[in-house]
Amino acid sequence: MRVLVVGAGPTGLVLALALRQRGIACRLVDRATEPSRHSKALGVQARTLEVMERLGLAERFLAASLPVRALVLHLNGGGAAPARLVLPEVHPRYPALVSLPQAETERLLLEAGGAAPERGVEFVGLDGAAALLRHADGREERDAGADWIVGCDGAHSAVRRAVGAAFPGERYPQRFILADCQVQGLEPSAVQVFPTPSRTLAFIPLPDGRWRAIAVLPPDAEVPEEPTLTPFAQDGVRLSGLDWYSTFRISHRMATRFRHGRVVLAGDAAHIHSPVGGQGMNIGVQDAWSLAAALAEGEAAVDRWAAEREALARRVLRATDLATRMVTAQGRITVWFRNRVLRTVASRPPLVRRVVRAVAGLNYPAPPD
Ligand SMILES: Cc1cc2nc3c(=O)[nH]c(=O)nc-3n(C[C@H](O)[C@H](O)[C@H](O)COP(=O)(O)OP(=O)(O)OC[C@H]3O[C@@H](n4cnc5c(N)ncnc54)[C@H](O)[C@@H]3O)c2cc1C
Repeated sequence: MRVLVVGAGPTGLVLALALRQRGIACRLVDRATEPSRHSKALGVQARTLEVMERLGLAERFLAASLPVRALVLHLNGGGAAPARLVLPEVHPRYPALVSLPQAETERLLLEAGGAAPERGVEFVGLDGAAALLRHADGREERDAGADWIVGCDGAHSAVRRAVGAAFPGERYPQRFILADCQVQGLEPSAVQVFPTPSRTLAFIPLPDGRWRAIAVLPPDAEVPEEPTLTPFAQDGVRLSGLDWYSTFRISHRMATRFRHGRVVLAGDAAHIHSPVGGQGMNIGVQDAWSLAAALAEGEAAVDRWAAEREALARRVLRATDLATRMVTAQGRITVWFRNRVLRTVASRPPLVRRVVRAVAGLNYPAPPD
């Protein structure tokens, strides 16, 4: 059996490593001529570290990352006492969540050897069961040798388009801005959130001492296109050294089916969510690991995989949508109610534990052996 994996982001890299670990021949192609250098997804869940353990990479991930120790909710701005939620141990071996820039995650997966993507090779469509590929030098290729084609080619998936899969969902009206920068005045190793009626700010620590700042602004807010730290200004927080800056809108969408004959969709190609809760990349990595096991088993297992992952993605979309609406809530009464709920959760250890288990991905199935 041979599998063509389209896209060498976290999902495609894990799938290629997992397939080769199982002795399944696989070709991994990516249209980009080099890996992305952007930090993008930061949160790596305990459940994803279990996947890395099965790939023999958990120690490297732990050495390179920063465990997130607490979540601090500044529910009344910087002045009043914040609600501080210390993340309890919910996993026998791993922190619930570690912070690691996505470019580092991809580097560790690439350094593991065995994934070796062919770069500058773009999937452009299907000719019957064969994939049509275009190389960077313009050469076209008809890859007719694959028994399965897996689209791990991200949110704008060409594989998804080629099979005509619907991708229904909605765009959030809010505007998102992010920056990687230096921050002083915040407790290290803690994610800090400042939800106010006019905007929501979050600061996430990075392993190299920098921070990711995220601002969520109302739909009609002015968003500076030129890199600036102004949108992240907050009393008591000193910002400097702006590095990566990006402005974007987000959507939540999901392909109605993940399997289309011998073509399968995984990761962002199959489902995209709000970054609130940091689930996106994690679910993709977990899709990939369990898909390799299913492909090794055969047709019926791939059908079961698709049904399970569709149900899980639907659940995750609902949960991240609810979390996004809570974090971006506006209006005095809504914000008062939201803050009351958050304070109640933060003061009750059994509720904190439930929330942290969800953040760690422990509500999702354990990766198969
Ligand atoms: C600015 C930003 C911030 C983010 N922050 C977070 C966060 O905080 N938390 C979180 O969980 N997620 C976050 N995400 C989302 C996260 O990055 C994705 O969920 C994750 O990258 C999905 O991995 P993937 O491998 O499925 O797809 P991708 O990482 O998108 O990889 C797809 C790969 O396919 C390749 N490709 C595309 N089209 C083709 C083609 N036609 N032929 C060949 N190759 C192709 C691309 O070059 C790319 O390498 C963020 C994303 C962005 C853009």
